[in-house]
Amino acid sequence: MKNKLLLVIISIVSSIAVSSLQAQSLNAEVFDLLDLNYKGLEQVKTHLEAGDDLAAADALLIYYKNRTHIHHPDINLKMIDLSEKEQVWADEGLEHKFFAHKGYQPSYFYGEDIRWDFWPIQDNELRWQLHRHKWWSPMGKAYRLSHNEKYVQEWIFQYLDWIKKNPLIDENKLNPTDQEKKTIENMRFAWRPLEVSHRLEDQTRQFVYFNTSENFTSAFLTVFLANYHRHAEHILRHYSKQGNHLLFEAQRMIYAGVFFPEFKDAAKWRKSGMTILGEEIKKQVYEDGMQYELDPHYHLASINIFYKALKMADINGFKNEFTQDYRRTLEKMTDIVYNMSFPDYTMPCFGDAKAVNKKEMIKHYKRWQKIFPNNQALAYFATTGKEGSSPSYLSKDYRQSGYYIFRNGWQADATVMVFKAGPPAFWHNQPDNGTFELYVKGRNFFPDAGSYVYGGNEKVLKERNWFRQTMVHKTLTLDNQNIETTDSKLLLWDISTKNMQKMVVENQSYKNLKHQRALFFIDETFFVIFDRAVGAALGAVGIHYQLAEGNAMFNKNNFSVNTSYSDKNNIMVKAFGDNSMELKEEEGWVSYNYRQKSKRPAFVFESNKKDDKPVRFLTVLVPYSTDKPEVSAIILPSEENEVEIELKMNNKKYTLYASW
Ligand code: MG
Repeated sequence: MKNKLLLVIISIVSSIAVSSLQAQSLNAEVFDLLDLNYKGLEQVKTHLEAGDDLAAADALLIYYKNRTHIHHPDINLKMIDLSEKEQVWADEGLEHKFFAHKGYQPSYFYGEDIRWDFWPIQDNELRWQLHRHKWWSPMGKAYRLSHNEKYVQEWIFQYLDWIKKNPLIDENKLNPTDQEKKTIENMRFAWRPLEVSHRLEDQTRQFVYFNTSENFTSAFLTVFLANYHRHAEHILRHYSKQGNHLLFEAQRMIYAGVFFPEFKDAAKWRKSGMTILGEEIKKQVYEDGMQYELDPHYHLASINIFYKALKMADINGFKNEFTQDYRRTLEKMTDIVYNMSFPDYTMPCFGDAKAVNKKEMIKHYKRWQKIFPNNQALAYFATTGKEGSSPSYLSKDYRQSGYYIFRNGWQADATVMVFKAGPPAFWHNQPDNGTFELYVKGRNFFPDAGSYVYGGNEKVLKERNWFRQTMVHKTLTLDNQNIETTDSKLLLWDISTKNMQKMVVENQSYKNLKHQRALFFIDETFFVIFDRAVGAALGAVGIHYQLAEGNAMFNKNNFSVNTSYSDKNNIMVKAFGDNSMELKEEEGWVSYNYRQKSKRPAFVFESNKKDDKPVRFLTVLVPYSTDKPEVSAIILPSEENEVEIELKMNNKKYTLYASW
């Protein structure tokens, strides 16, 4: 009884505190921002004309609480799914332990009196992403499921606190005071357009979840809408120049314009987003369907941006504002995803890509299937093969973006190599031309190193740069230096003979050293890679390989490395080269997720280039179960536009020949 009484007192006190906070904060500016002739706002207009702001705000709140003609594509109030993690983020959020970034767990405490500029580790992402408020929508879901007002009260408190402590001022102000300098520095994080756009989208969700609460008052509504309007206008003036940031920002402007059509500027926001996406889908997507950052993760993100924009427009009556071309390109982008995926639905971690899993990928396929219901492949991957049909082809080239896939099937035990040798790309891409991942019978034997972290202070950048190095990829280097040019040319693609599929690519990796790489996929089972380094450069020329985590057995005398898995799914890497060739172990790390890394075997076959003559290597990648394969090979003399190899594999002889 006593406890109950105490609770009542606390709740009265706290609701007085909250309402007094709100009573002061009605923002009448919002009435100038709204189109008072919008259907449904008649009462608001009448009260305003009578000079009664409070009554107008009340009428506006009633309008929004009863608004049913605008649909949110990502919310189904009858089926709110709050994951265990989201519940934790919501509850920790109440205690100001803010879920800013997955790579920094447990979440940091930002102070009783919140320090929005707290930056415990000088990784830019940690500070940027704090301003995405990723725990607020989970608080909204937790509120809807529990009806516990503490989530609303705390959200409103934090929302107002954030506005107060993260002002937006003129960044070009002449003679700024010290305090203004600090504000401008903070704006780099709090008001970076990507973060602003993240909030723009997420706050539509928070609006839906929280606006039924008695704590969501008419005064707060005016503050919310004014702040929201400021966000959209900020993006309009500060769109990123290019890349996925621009796509995210445009898509979220469509969300803003469609979700809050009551603003005078709503149509302008919507059209701006649609125009940008319509233009960028032509600019940022190669003819073959790959997004031009050449990173599987951002390719997937771009698909989802284009998809979300379409869906938002679709369910709110703006479907026809997107062209058929837009839809066709979007569909083409999805076919790269399943072609680049391994049978377990994972994708290579090239560039800054992070690991994906089957569950999330199936979710994506299911969404895409809905907008492309006649696409049999999407149906197949959405239903793990129960419906639709797998593509009618196996190996496939995406030659504008430089992705080449060798495949012997679509089933779980298939062999799949995804090879990367493309044009120059942007920040998320790495100097890795000629690298690959190879998946055999359920195991990815050569996962890419990944990225580990993005940008930050010197220490963080040093960690990032380790994972970006050319030498931690499966390709050729000179003196272990990063390649200077990343502009591969395809010289040959011939998959017409199933048992002898061939590809040749070339990259002018260094000023005086060109890297040619010929690849043979033989009997749809094993791979032979021929490398030729051509040019006047002198030094150590190496071809690097890195295996998945686990043990590897090195045989330095016969230049081979074997995995030692007990499940009878192994691989042998064996090289042939000139007399100076050595097999050396290297430092090896792999990162599937931000700030997570594990050790793995890595090595290089290295020759000494002493003169103008090309250095040549031959590497055989042979999957096997228990008995190590017997391989011998001779590289025959050849011109610079051909390669010829005599190969013996477990007593079977092959002649490998390619010319271009
Ligand atoms: Mg990489």
